[in-house]
Amino acid sequence: MSKSTSVVTEAGTFGEFGGSYVPEELQRVLAKIAEAFDRYKDDPEFNKELRYYLKDYVGRENPLTFAKNLTEQAGGAKIYLKREDLNHTGAHKINNTIGQILLAKRMGAKRIIAETGAGQHGVATATVAALFGLPCTIYMGKYDTERQALNVFRMELLGAKVVPVEKGQGRLKDAVDEALGDLVQNHETTYYLLGSAVGPHPYPTMVHHFQSVISEESKRQILEKEGKLPAAVVACVGGGSNAIGAFAHYIDEPSVRLVGVEPVEAASIAEGVPAVIHGFKCYALVDENNNPKPTYSIAAGLDYPGVGPEHSYLKASGRGEYVTVTGQEALDAFLNLSKVEGIIPALESAHAVAYAMKLAKTLPKDESIIVNLSGRGDKDVKQVYEMLQKK
Ligand SMILES: *Cc1c(COP(=O)(O)O)cnc(C)c1O
Repeated sequence: MSKSTSVVTEAGTFGEFGGSYVPEELQRVLAKIAEAFDRYKDDPEFNKELRYYLKDYVGRENPLTFAKNLTEQAGGAKIYLKREDLNHTGAHKINNTIGQILLAKRMGAKRIIAETGAGQHGVATATVAALFGLPCTIYMGKYDTERQALNVFRMELLGAKVVPVEKGQGRLKDAVDEALGDLVQNHETTYYLLGSAVGPHPYPTMVHHFQSVISEESKRQILEKEGKLPAAVVACVGGGSNAIGAFAHYIDEPSVRLVGVEPVEAASIAEGVPAVIHGFKCYALVDENNNPKPTYSIAAGLDYPGVGPEHSYLKASGRGEYVTVTGQEALDAFLNLSKVEGIIPALESAHAVAYAMKLAKTLPKDESIIVNLSGRGDKDVKQVYEMLQKK
């Protein structure tokens, strides 16, 4: 978001984190979205419609799969996989885009815009815009459009217009700035559908709400299968949306460890410092001028120099544990899960699997761990093929 930060509100703070550090004109637009969200989030009609689409379009509820072979390999706690990879479009992102587009419709939006980095959120947004017949513009850094040409084409197939952003470094941050500029200019007609548990209020709260269906289901499922809560829930952390959804219904269960896994190459929580980036305060990897540092993870979805404010708070308060694994460990977990369970995970999700294997070894066999399998690996097969050719 723009660096001309002027106004900050108390709304949407998590301890010292979160808030809304944006210019006043944008603040007013965000306040309207916050108001609509407050009004509809507990509205029975809204929730009926949300549940309908989650079931009949996304394909929820998805299974909690006992990973028998993985469990035997690790030789400790039972490992369960929450199967967000089986959702329509192949990841958890659709939970949020369905929720937010229903809100946009209620707000009378005639047009949807979004940012995207690698293209996954752009695809999930273009999907729901197609479903609801709304024109959709996706801002994507020029550099990213070149790296992810196939995702650009996917969005176009779904009817979206992809705008390559040449400003700045032509990366995700620049795409966010363009999208916010568009929103300020066209807020009468336009809804900005943000993709992760980041950004200024109300986005982190809203994304938490729409992704919390993950743990609502997994809690019911694990109690059915094990008769008790898991010892830990493990999820990868980019901006933090799949992790906060996987943690949500366990935050008030102190016996359940909440473990967020970052790539060591983009370890915002593990190695960052509190800073304001992109309109909110969080742990971030910044340089001496407080500018976000470039990161490089093999998993494009985890390649973000900041992290959601609620994760920052869970870390600072000690409720959450945040750990790192290397790209190599994630790649090994990707190959292993494919081989022993017949499930090709997203490279992002493979980070969580890699850590869960280590954690399982330290826990007794009558305990269980839930790993949030945030997405499927089809999108990564070509990249992994190329990485293996290089060796
Ligand atoms: C986008 C993405 C992520 C990272 O985003 P979060 O907001 O941290 O969840 C993780 N896994 C997959 C499969 C993704 O597409």
